Amino acid sequence: MARYKDEQCRICRREGQKLFLKGSRCYTDKCSISRRNYAPGQNGQKKKKLSEYGTQLREKQKTKSFYGVGEKQFRKYFEMASNTKGITGEILLQLLESRLDNVVYRLGFGSSRAQSRMMVTHGTFEVNGKKVDIPSYLVKPGDVIAVREIRKDNGFIKQNMETNAARPVPAWLEKDAEKLSGKVVRLAQREDVDLPVEEHLIVELYSK
Ligand code: SF4
Repeated sequence: MARYKDEQCRICRREGQKLFLKGSRCYTDKCSISRRNYAPGQNGQKKKKLSEYGTQLREKQKTKSFYGVGEKQFRKYFEMASNTKGITGEILLQLLESRLDNVVYRLGFGSSRAQSRMMVTHGTFEVNGKKVDIPSYLVKPGDVIAVREIRKDNGFIKQNMETNAARPVPAWLEKDAEKLSGKVVRLAQREDVDLPVEEHLIVELYSK
């Protein structure tokens, strides 16, 4: 339905930031944020002052949308992060970055996280030689993610690789475009995450 055509762009506009939800269009001047950087709706251009709770909530919603994760799963990642030694907010981002669908996107096999998730679900990838079709699978250092042999002739993947070739691969991953594979060199650190988010606000929100 035409009404929902720009639904993903509306999410970015509501957050006032590019969340890269639409694939290659996000990297062009067709991006709605470049053209209309104000919230959708009749009163979108009016600046609203958010309460402390509202600000924390927006940071959480933005992060969930960026990674395409639902509330229940996001809360689960928060619990995991809270029970791990270190800075909770940073570990939360590390867990989200370690999801297989995100890694597939970061390596340029998929044009968006949503498309990467669909590709994983359809059994396109293997991790260390074994088929993995669970988008939330968490990768570890040393893991090798590759397009399965039976999918290597898929023109769609090659086309994606070409389209996404200019997108930089983060330092914690290594891409082998020839072999259609990638390796997790180490876990993502805070500086590797390109989402402008104040993750401590999410921790404060869940700690209430
Ligand atoms: Fe739309 Fe992508 Fe731009 Fe977001 S970043 S507004 S999804 S084109």
